[in-house]
Amino acid sequence: MTTNETPSQGNFIKQIINEHNRTGRYAGRVHTRFPPEPNGYLHIGHAKSICLNFGLAEEYGGKCNLRFDDTNPTKEEVEYVDSIKEDIRWLGFDWEDREFYASDYFETLYEYALKLIRDGNAFVCELTAEQIREYRGTLTESGRNSPWRDRPVEENLALFARMRDGEFPDGSHTLRAKIDMAAANLNMRDPVMYRILRAHHHRTGDRWCIYPTYDWAHGQSDSIEGITHSICTLEFEDHRPLYDWFVEKLGIHHPRQIEFARLNITYTVMSKRKLLKLVQDRIVDGWDDPRMPTISGLRRRGYTPEALRDFSDRVGVAKKESTIDVALLEHCVRLDLNAHASRVMAVLDPLKVVLTNYPEDRVEELEAINNPEDPAAGMRMVPFSRELFIEREDFMEDPPKKFFRLAPGREVRLRYGYIIKCEDVVKDKDGNILELHCSYDPGTKSGMPEANRKVKGTLHWVSAPHAVDAEVRLYEQLFAKENPDDVEAGQDFLVHLNPDSLRITRAKVEPSLAHASPATHYQFERKGYFTVDSKYGRPGSPVFNRTVTLRDTWAKINK
Ligand code: ATP
Ligand code: MG
Repeated sequence: MTTNETPSQGNFIKQIINEHNRTGRYAGRVHTRFPPEPNGYLHIGHAKSICLNFGLAEEYGGKCNLRFDDTNPTKEEVEYVDSIKEDIRWLGFDWEDREFYASDYFETLYEYALKLIRDGNAFVCELTAEQIREYRGTLTESGRNSPWRDRPVEENLALFARMRDGEFPDGSHTLRAKIDMAAANLNMRDPVMYRILRAHHHRTGDRWCIYPTYDWAHGQSDSIEGITHSICTLEFEDHRPLYDWFVEKLGIHHPRQIEFARLNITYTVMSKRKLLKLVQDRIVDGWDDPRMPTISGLRRRGYTPEALRDFSDRVGVAKKESTIDVALLEHCVRLDLNAHASRVMAVLDPLKVVLTNYPEDRVEELEAINNPEDPAAGMRMVPFSRELFIEREDFMEDPPKKFFRLAPGREVRLRYGYIIKCEDVVKDKDGNILELHCSYDPGTKSGMPEANRKVKGTLHWVSAPHAVDAEVRLYEQLFAKENPDDVEAGQDFLVHLNPDSLRITRAKVEPSLAHASPATHYQFERKGYFTVDSKYGRPGSPVFNRTVTLRDTWAKINK
């Protein structure tokens, strides 16, 4: 879409932008930003925000900045900055040369604060944090003025300079905006702009011992960057009057803050604090554990950027909190993988089959289709021999009528191969099934006279001597409860952990997978979508993550 077109299908954010473009408020410019705080890895909620901010910029021919909101030195780390950049790039977005840090504006913010002081709009306060809370009042009761509120400008300027120079202990002084302690909106009751904090900052080092609050830093950073539409989540709606107050009092460029409902997903926790706890307590295998809702976890699990972007579009933007069914996310993943993943055969729980009438030294190469959805994906050859593995669950000794797989005396087709019949079940002395002895029907191979003979079941298989040993990791939701944040008093969200969220199997996979490269996507026929793990496994001995099962409840529900 080009700059001058008006996007037709307007959600409420686009309607605001369209209106601005109509009235010329920003001269037709659309400039958004994605403002992560580098205190954790990004999760799918952030992916929504990224797609929205970069997406709007793309759609309106505008720009989107990456801005690290690094005003809280105690929780921030360079590792997080690096992971955030990697994740945004992976999603397919580009901030070009616009990588900014709120900390780059510390000096400008300080100058702005001086202006507010000079204009009588800010003062240095000596109440403790606890006293400030007390004086603030409640929703039903107005607050009380700080005893320091009416200091002369010169005294405020001098004290503020001394705060910066490190003359006062941590927490002893703050700089506060002078607004209205009786305001109905608590955010307008003389909010704190600076606190004294001796903490090392990952970019500014020990240069500063006063740090701006979020409310003070955020809007001014937006303004400095010429942002037009500052999109954030709903909890900041009550902060908008303050956002507006600061830029108006400063008389600087005034972006429009727009709030939308944050993304919540069933069976998922999204709070960074909780995700950090899962990592620190080693409940998961790091931030990129494939069960985590982090972008790096979803990537390792085999989710694709296309699927996440599609999901983000379908979710849309809302003005009211809601929770999205995780089945919709999985549906988007299946749609994308169905189009692109190569079909292969892998047996997750192997049971040996011996074809007693098949020559011992014969190996046939059977032609297999890589992706029926994509003719360009072509064919590959799969070896077939006298000894095979099938899935243990595809055999029943005493099956119910509707079981159309293998059973004594019954026939099935082996995918791309022959029809076989189970003649004998070999057991150990305890009655455990060791292997099946079957016969094959030589006339039933593709191209042979009986190729089209119909049997009810078709099984996937691998040739035993050619099969590659692989570890397969089967994932389920990390939490067993639809809303894991819903806990009783005194309980922790960890009570809802799903004990079966990871099951590891020793599988036999077709030889073409021996050297599959990390992050390649496959459909294991009849079993689901899998990807090569990027952390474990080595050439010749791969580890696979189950990305998603084949069953699509979402597609069915929404027929
Ligand atoms: P914190 O509590 O640490 O501030 P946060 O999830 O808000 O957590 P940020 O790094 O501040 O983390 O978020 C960056 C951007 O992503 C913000 O604009 C925020 O509104 C947006 N965002 C965060 N979580 C979600 C979510 N679940 N859905 C949509 N947007 C989100
Ligand atoms: Mg935040």
